[in-house]
Amino acid sequence: MKCGLLGRKLGHSYSPQIHNALGDYPYKLFEVEPEHLEMFLQSADFTGLNVTIPYKKAVLPYCATLSKTAQRLGAVNTLVRKKDGTLIGHNTDYFGFASMLQRSNLDVQNKKVLVLGSGGASNTAVAVLQELGANVIVISRSGENNYDNLHLHGDTSVIVNATPVGMYPHVGVSPIELNLFPKLEGVLDLIYNPARTKLLLDAEAKGLITENGLWMLVAQAKESAEWFIGSKISNNRIPVIHKGLRCQMENIILIGMPGCGKSTVGALLGEALGRPVVDADKAIEEAAGCTIPEIFARGTEVEFRQIETAVLSDLSKQSGLIIATGGGCVTREENYPLLHQNGTIVWIKRDLRKLATEGRPLSQVTKMEDMFKIRKPMYEQFADLTVSNDGTPEETASRVLALLEQGEAQ
Ligand code: NAP
Repeated sequence: MKCGLLGRKLGHSYSPQIHNALGDYPYKLFEVEPEHLEMFLQSADFTGLNVTIPYKKAVLPYCATLSKTAQRLGAVNTLVRKKDGTLIGHNTDYFGFASMLQRSNLDVQNKKVLVLGSGGASNTAVAVLQELGANVIVISRSGENNYDNLHLHGDTSVIVNATPVGMYPHVGVSPIELNLFPKLEGVLDLIYNPARTKLLLDAEAKGLITENGLWMLVAQAKESAEWFIGSKISNNRIPVIHKGLRCQMENIILIGMPGCGKSTVGALLGEALGRPVVDADKAIEEAAGCTIPEIFARGTEVEFRQIETAVLSDLSKQSGLIIATGGGCVTREENYPLLHQNGTIVWIKRDLRKLATEGRPLSQVTKMEDMFKIRKPMYEQFADLTVSNDGTPEETASRVLALLEQGEAQ
């Protein structure tokens, strides 16, 4: 058996990792230019293929048979070669989105659902939602329902983003302003990198149900794998693979007072998880070309904070890092969405009398107690988890790992 993913530009894909977890078959990436598509489909040595942008429609004429779902959606994301050499086209994105919606626990029956975008993923979402009895409105930049007449849809219950707006590396932008929808219950975003797009961060801030596209990615792969191997795979594999990927992709971000042990605990976490550890203060020094005391000696704290935000913006777009931040990063509200988009934020709390102060410009000029009084509510606001570091750093690192594990289990 030989399987893989067909697309034009695949970059970093999680599909090989997901399929390796789903079955015992080799899975390769095939980047093919449009003029070579026909030749590839006719002569390449494969048993099963996933199909992605821009070929989900382009492969239709090469399929001798189409599944009902592929026919209905007019798109194929899974090809299986039969013994006689002909191709069957399936669409497992339908199952993927249905599974994502089910995980969110959002009830869409008789509710208004806005689906943003009118491409392939939008078609899939619309089909699933209509099947479940939703009143679906597609918002398209060029459609009758568009971003200029959203006020017509104030009674919307659920929004589904099926556009690429907010996707890595163009993070921090949202296709829609949520304040327009007072009855909104939840937002689903088909994007999974970053884990929380600006749209999902905005929804989370309003206390709405949110879900990103990682579950859909895993669920569609599960159904594809069933077509490849010709037998059923338990749905219980989906949460297991999803959890593994989510852990691997999310950053762990340590915040806390200067000298509270973020770098030491960060290094221990890096060792335990085999992950790269980045000290944000060192990254700032590299970016500025001088030490932090020199930055302060040359300019104001505001200038330092600007460099810090730019550095955190670059770091937190990445995945799978452990980031030990500077103590004052919480003083800028705009750092929160940057850090949270891809990360779990852990507040490392230490008795003020135990804080190390050497080489820390702000710690020397401001009394720690005064600084803590100001920053405490900011740490509380940023933190997803809080861990005391009054014992040994090893104990703290173990507690962080245990809490992360608990969080992932939910
Ligand atoms: P697509 O066929 O290119 O469609 C995207 C649609 O988004 C376009 O038709 C367009 O609709 C709208 N759009 C594009 N650029 C936009 C912009 N700058 N501003 C506003 N709207 C814009 O892509 P797709 O295959 O449907 O994928 C859409 C998204 O879903 C992508 O982010 C993709 O990664 C994600 N996806 C995720 C999964 C998963 O398993 N999680 C599966 C499939 C797709 P209008 O022209 O009508 O506005």
